[in-house]
Order: sequence, then structure tokens, then C-alpha cells
Amino acid sequence: MGHGSIRIFVSARLAAGASFAATAQQAHYLLRVMRRRDGETVALFNGDDGEWSAALATDGRSLRFTVGERLRAQAPDADLWLAFGLLKRDATDLVMRQATELGVTRICPVLARRSQGERVNLARLQAIAIEAAEQSERLTLPTIDPPQTLAALLGTWPPARPLVALVERAHAPLIRPASGASGLLVGPEGGFAPEEIAEIGRHRWVVRASLGPRILRAETAAIAGLAQLQAGI
Ligand code: SAM
Repeated sequence: MGHGSIRIFVSARLAAGASFAATAQQAHYLLRVMRRRDGETVALFNGDDGEWSAALATDGRSLRFTVGERLRAQAPDADLWLAFGLLKRDATDLVMRQATELGVTRICPVLARRSQGERVNLARLQAIAIEAAEQSERLTLPTIDPPQTLAALLGTWPPARPLVALVERAHAPLIRPASGASGLLVGPEGGFAPEEIAEIGRHRWVVRASLGPRILRAETAAIAGLAQLQAGI
């Protein structure tokens, strides 16, 4: 697809000739916001079947997609998870958006001792991830877990997946690119509590890492850490 093509995430299976209705939200976006017309094409993806061109059929109100040719085959994502201490809403939204752009496959919000957000609207986070995937030409969506405690996260973390824990003000080595499946753990705005740091350090698959001498906001740390890790996978 050329620059600026509209990409829409759909839940339907995609194959040549498939035809299905757009959701009311997609119809509003394409017809009212983007002013697309009957017969114009957009690109569709669903996380499994690659990217397809689709023609729009509309009477001005309702909208259907009819799938044409495949534009891109599905390709596997780099295997990168992000766990982060829940932040205030805007900061959490930014982490969701940028983690999706950076290809994170699973996002695990953590209710850390010093987390500022407790209630999370998962549907809203999902919508942010969908929009970021549509705009970044990503072919998949990240899995978004419901918020869980740090103990629950560490208790179910797969030991074969190194977890790079970002710790500030510690003599930890600088973060290095990952060499395969991995995860990043970032604290909340107030940092991890001492007992959380101790708990993190008890697991042999945890790698403590630093982003240098400056104290970064949690969302900056998440994004900088992901960019570093991702360079290797
Ligand atoms: N309130 C803490 C303090 O003043 O010591 C700072 C916490 S920092 C704003 C939030 C999170 O970002 C930390 O828990 C850590 O995961 C990460 N972080 C920030 N700067 C970092 C650095 N230089 N190296 C590693 N991690 C960092």
C-alpha cells in the first residue's frame, strides 16, 4: 500500500471475495471522518491473515467491506513482552500506544505498591492498541492482560523468558539488546518499593538493567527500554 492508505483492524476472517459489514464505529470513521466513498478501497488486517485490500460499498449510512487481493502475508512478530507499573491515565495511554508501535506482543499492567492508577478500562486500552496498530502498519495486536499484582506476574512468568527489570539508582549494567524472547519490567512513577525490588531479585530469570544515570519518567523508561531490547530481536 502507498503512503497514507487507511488501515482498519477487523475481527472477520480475510480471504478474497469475503464480504462483511463494518462496525458502526468503522463506518463513522471511514464515511464521516475520512470521507471515503462507495467503491474506494482501504486495507484490512485481523492479526492472522495478513493485509488485504477491500472495496467499500455504502449507501451513505451503512458500510460493507468486500475483500480483494492480499497485500502482505502475515509475518511473525518479535517476541517481546512489557510489564509496567500502572501509571496515571495519560501516561498509561502513551505506554500502550508506543509499546504497540514498537511491536510488543503482550502488555502486562502491574498493580505495584506505588501505582497511581488502579482502575483500568481494558476496552479503552484495546482501542488505543488497535489505533496504534492501524497507523503503524503492524499486522497484529498485542495481547493486553488485566492488571495484576507484581507477585502474580512473577509467579506466572515463564522462566525461559528473561525479564529485564529496569532499576534506577542501582549499579546495574546498561540494558543490552535481547537475543530472543524476552520481557521488560518498568516501575511506576514512584519506582518499585524496596520489598518489590527484593522480590524481583529472587528470580534467576530476572536481569537487572539500567538506562543510565538520569532518572527517567516511567513512560520514557518503558519506551527507551523497549527500543533497546527490540534492537536484538
Ligand atoms: N521515584 C523514583 C526515584 O526518584 O528514585 C524514580 C522512579 S522512575 C520515575 C520510574 C521507573 O522508571 C523506575 O521504577 C524504573 O523502572 C524506570 N527508570 C527510570 N529511570 C531509570 C534508569 N535510569 N535506569 C533504569 N530504570 C529507570
